[in-house]
Amino acid sequence: MATAPRVSRNSRRQGRPAPELIFGDLWPYDPAPESADPKLKTRYDLFIDGAFVPAKSGRTFETINPGNEKKLADVALADAADVDRAFQAARRAQESVWSKLPGRERGKYLYRIARLLQDRAREFAVAETLNGGKPIKEARDFDVPMAAAHFFYHAGWADKLAFAFPGASVSPVGVVGQVIPWNFPLLMLAWKIAPALAAGNCVVLKPAETTPLTALKFAEILQEAELPAGVVNIVAGAGETGAAVVSHPLAAKVAFTGSTEVGKIIQRQLAGSGKKLTLELGGKAANVVFDDAPLEQAVEGVVNGIFFNQGHVCCAGSRLLVQETIADALVAKLKLRLRSLRVGDPLDKNTDVGAINSKAQLEKIRELVASGVKEGAELYESPCRLPAKGFYFRPTLFTQVSMSHRIAREEIFGPVLSVLTFRTVEEAVEKANNTAYGLSAGVWTEKGSRILKLAGELKAGVVWANTFNKFDPTSPFGGYKESGFGREGGRQGLADYVNLS
Ligand code: NAP
Ligand code: MG
Repeated sequence: MATAPRVSRNSRRQGRPAPELIFGDLWPYDPAPESADPKLKTRYDLFIDGAFVPAKSGRTFETINPGNEKKLADVALADAADVDRAFQAARRAQESVWSKLPGRERGKYLYRIARLLQDRAREFAVAETLNGGKPIKEARDFDVPMAAAHFFYHAGWADKLAFAFPGASVSPVGVVGQVIPWNFPLLMLAWKIAPALAAGNCVVLKPAETTPLTALKFAEILQEAELPAGVVNIVAGAGETGAAVVSHPLAAKVAFTGSTEVGKIIQRQLAGSGKKLTLELGGKAANVVFDDAPLEQAVEGVVNGIFFNQGHVCCAGSRLLVQETIADALVAKLKLRLRSLRVGDPLDKNTDVGAINSKAQLEKIRELVASGVKEGAELYESPCRLPAKGFYFRPTLFTQVSMSHRIAREEIFGPVLSVLTFRTVEEAVEKANNTAYGLSAGVWTEKGSRILKLAGELKAGVVWANTFNKFDPTSPFGGYKESGFGREGGRQGLADYVNLS
């Protein structure tokens, strides 16, 4: 185990806590706030038929910064009448313009959108961090570049659909209703809009209630790109607005990313309607570490797997399955690593773990963590200090977890890791698959044959080996079981946006 650095006399004089209490404070960092201007307006309207328009009812809702609870803007709240306006505009655009454009022309728009997003990358990264709470280094290095990458990738497909599906006659599905969550607001928008447009469809999209701003800023990019009016419409609001989107009669396909609970409601609503449906839902991924794994790398992979984006990640490695012989050593290293994670102001470039997205989500995390303690698991939390304002939660891990505990079965969607142990490969597979979900999994071992065996046996849409949370627009992503169906990304993702005959 690494020896803890000594506390300087200077810090002792200042009355700093001992190193075993506040590890992160041993290396004080000056604040390094990102300074780019997010160019936020104080009010955002709905984006319908190529223009920003107020809700018919005139209603608005406030959107805040979860990092300090301050209001950022008022946003128009779409009701069923506004959603209907958006679908009518999308149908007109579909029939009169978009379905008539050759693929190479559609591709030009997608390239233009991708480039404009790159041009305004810093502005979008700051806006994403302000509205969602994620660390600026993640918004800057992951969310925004990946969103642009999805537009670039799908721009390339727009004129090659015949090659994507050889031998078939390919046609667009029509108007698509899309509803997305708050954990990767801009990236989920890109996952939804880019393949839809590449395949010749028009869109009505609803961002999550707590994170509407980058979607509405994205509408500014659509105007700048001179995308024909009505091809993409953005309607902000909460669950009711989402329900109006998915149940609208003009939606030929519905694409939803969110909780399993809402996914099931939508599936019931659409049953028998003949509409196409894809659901990207929750997860409770196993990150499986064998005794021959390179431990330091595994620690980094496990930390990334659960603390990336405060654990608000559907494919988060929230269940660590570690081989019994190395469990103590791995947990000791993990605890040490947890203490060096910097938790706080999402806009600070040094921050590793930012703000929890909303008060409601913070309460959900607290409730599940309390259940873990009550059911007998052993809690360890980073002793870091939390800002006084805003929604924050300490990086946390549980040992002595059993498969029946709620923290081992339910999605916490926060910075909380549950550690379980196994002895044999068979037991690891059995425990990893013993979940209602099946979105992702990780395997850490030096043995290539074991990786291949587990990649086949783990019932998860994505299996990472000696890494975690790696994404690429060319690689399909999606679930098994209660994690949903349909794929996003790659040729498979495109297939969900076309009719083949
Ligand atoms: P959620 O409550 O299901 O919300 C997702 C979206 O659906 C939001 O825009 C929401 O509006 C809307 N909505 C709520 N009720 C609806 C209804 N009855 N009909 C139609 N739309 C409705 O999920 P969340 O809490 O925002 O997001 C977290 C969940 O998403 C997690 O379970 C996570 O695993 C999952 N997720 C999955 C993936 C994936 O790719 N598989 C990716 C990211 C997240 P409001 O904003 O008002 O709630
Ligand atoms: Mg919700």
